[in-house]
Amino acid sequence: MDLALAGRVAIVTGGTSGIGLACVRSFLDEGADVAFCGRDEARLEQARAAFAEQAGAGRILAKRCDVTKPEEVQAFAQAVAAWRSRADMLVNNAGQGRVSTFETTTDEQWRAELDLKFFSQVLPIRAFKPLLGASDAASITAVNSLLAYQPEPHMVCTSAARAGVQSLLKSLAGEFAPAIRVNSVVLGLIESGQWERRFEAREDKSQSREAWLAALAQSKHIPAGRLGRPDEVARAIVFLASPAAAYITGASLEISGGVSRFI
Ligand code: NDP
Repeated sequence: MDLALAGRVAIVTGGTSGIGLACVRSFLDEGADVAFCGRDEARLEQARAAFAEQAGAGRILAKRCDVTKPEEVQAFAQAVAAWRSRADMLVNNAGQGRVSTFETTTDEQWRAELDLKFFSQVLPIRAFKPLLGASDAASITAVNSLLAYQPEPHMVCTSAARAGVQSLLKSLAGEFAPAIRVNSVVLGLIESGQWERRFEAREDKSQSREAWLAALAQSKHIPAGRLGRPDEVARAIVFLASPAAAYITGASLEISGGVSRFI
């Protein structure tokens, strides 16, 4: 299948690790030019250098940007405007989950979580919308979690925030149609930076990475028997973002190895 991405411009927030990193790589493989961001300068430069080797320095733009800071997101969009003067695909991926119950979440933590989940969508969408307006096939694809539909007792705050984000995206799919398509992927457990950090913090340090991941998949009752890989998510995102998905908007695609219990 031709995704018709040659010469198009993709923006990926949080492109320096895990799913975002895999998205940048997949867009480059498919012929798109890619601008991506992250907060950590060293990781950003490491990713930039690797992608420059893969695709040539001229096809990538790496910019330090915290997606919760309006002035930094605006500066990222201005850098893209100076670089390519348009954007075709925005992938709002940057973020992380919060493990907490209602009892263990302070008001400040609620505000921080709602800020991250909502403004990691709102700010890039506002900043990049004029550039998307210059595309004949514009799309926004948000990375969200299955927790939006299936809250977990140990992730109360993040689950509520993620449900709100799905509502926002549905509204935007209507408001921006037909000029910009808006879709999301809702994820189960994907091997990435956040699970790497939890593995490093495991209690039994003698447990190997493979054994730890296998035990995690079993404890979460994942029908596929394992966690997903970032490249498996990236392929779905690149498709949804591409002109090949021209009639798909307001949709969410579950990528979870079958772990959801709703129909
Ligand atoms: P990683 O930790 O591997 O990657 C997260 C990326 O986002 C990094 O590049 C990080 O770089 C960047 N980032 C985080 N916060 C910000 C910020 N405020 N501004 C800009 N960049 C930021 O995790 P994943 O690949 O797993 O996460 C990608 C998305 O998928 C996240 O939104 C996460 O919540 C979501 N998700 C992941 C699941 C999983 O099982 N892996 C399940 C459900 C959802 P830096 O720290 O340098 O800023």
